[in-house]
Amino acid sequence: MSTHLPLLPGTLIDGRPATLGVLGGGQLGRMFVHAAQAMGYETVVLDPDPASPAGRVSHHFIQADYRDASGLAELALRAHAVTTEFENVPAESLAQLAAKLPVAPMAEAVAIAQDRIREKAHFARCAAASGVAPAAHAAIERPADLAAVPEMLLPGILKTARLGYDGKGQAHVATRAELAAAWERLGQVPCVLEQLLPLAAECSVIVARGRDGQAVSLPPQRNLHRDGILALTDVHDGNLPAAQARQAELATQRIAAELDYVGVLCVEYFLLRDGRLVVNEMAPRPHNSGHYSIDACEVSQFELQVRTLAGLPLAEPRLRGAALMLNLLGDLWWGADGLPRTPPWAELLALPGAHLHLYGKREARRGRKMGHLTFTGPDAAGVREQAQRAATLLGLEAFRR
Ligand code: ADP
Ligand code: MG
Repeated sequence: MSTHLPLLPGTLIDGRPATLGVLGGGQLGRMFVHAAQAMGYETVVLDPDPASPAGRVSHHFIQADYRDASGLAELALRAHAVTTEFENVPAESLAQLAAKLPVAPMAEAVAIAQDRIREKAHFARCAAASGVAPAAHAAIERPADLAAVPEMLLPGILKTARLGYDGKGQAHVATRAELAAAWERLGQVPCVLEQLLPLAAECSVIVARGRDGQAVSLPPQRNLHRDGILALTDVHDGNLPAAQARQAELATQRIAAELDYVGVLCVEYFLLRDGRLVVNEMAPRPHNSGHYSIDACEVSQFELQVRTLAGLPLAEPRLRGAALMLNLLGDLWWGADGLPRTPPWAELLALPGAHLHLYGKREARRGRKMGHLTFTGPDAAGVREQAQRAATLLGLEAFRR
């Protein structure tokens, strides 16, 4: 059995409907499944959780660990092409699947994105051409590296090289003593120490790149984080200074091209107070900051993921008007009185331009991503006004820096 690209939706291949597979069953997988199904594909999801958000909406579901050989074999049998939805999927699993069927992104690109040391080295390689460098940093892999840390990296942020997300696996350190203590607390695993930078804003760019090298990108997103977790994404003409927005777009294209990347890639940037743009990290998949594209762009990041995987043409994901996305964390399932509640969905949906997305997670926990709410409209001021109303209804401090 072999897959010929493009893999056309709604066709039969060896007697079975064209089927797209995804490793990982979280909300990103769920929105990928929705996009694939809307286009006429069947879907198969592999995840260890029997109640995973994506598994529950997919045609087929394989309950297995991401490294489980028989689970991966079944995925390879059911799917005609496979993608991934989370960053820490074992790169070896992708490599195993790639021996049998088209896989995007490739294991090598995912492996680089999984390791902050390799990721920063890739960014530094691209910087000569793009003019956008990573923060000054040093790898901390053995005790001797602590003493060799240059003074200019303090105060800094120590980040584990692997498995960090939403601000986890990080520590702010002001002195060498704090650095040593923090590395100890992080278990002396390989880390990166980077200089603490004076941020004026944060932004991200999502690029989709096909096997033929064709690439399209979403407009640069301005992001606001709270407690290390994305709280708000704001997208409209003028959301960022035009020169830096353009620079971020070009740098992202370069970063994807140098990886010979296939699929959807998100690159995060810092805009510093002196106007300098710094590249922070990348995610080899659709990104939370691109969820607005479902309701606000001609093509969403998830449809682009489908298209890159299936070898279909990539359309420009032009933004229609303005959009503002609020993340809905599990905290909202408790009221100001500390009692459990259902957030006021009916009132929220009465606001013009509101689009509600809930991920079908049964249990709300503090800090857990339960869904998002996107506001769309013709102009940024109107969209912001409605989003601000929603934040008030939710008791959300989304707009405070
Ligand atoms: P994660 O994988 O948790 O998203 P990030 O590297 O993006 O890790 O860091 C999380 C947040 O911490 C960033 O969005 C930014 O607000 C802040 N941050 C990270 N690195 C720096 C830095 N070098 N200087 C200032 N703030 C930083
Ligand atoms: Mg980040």
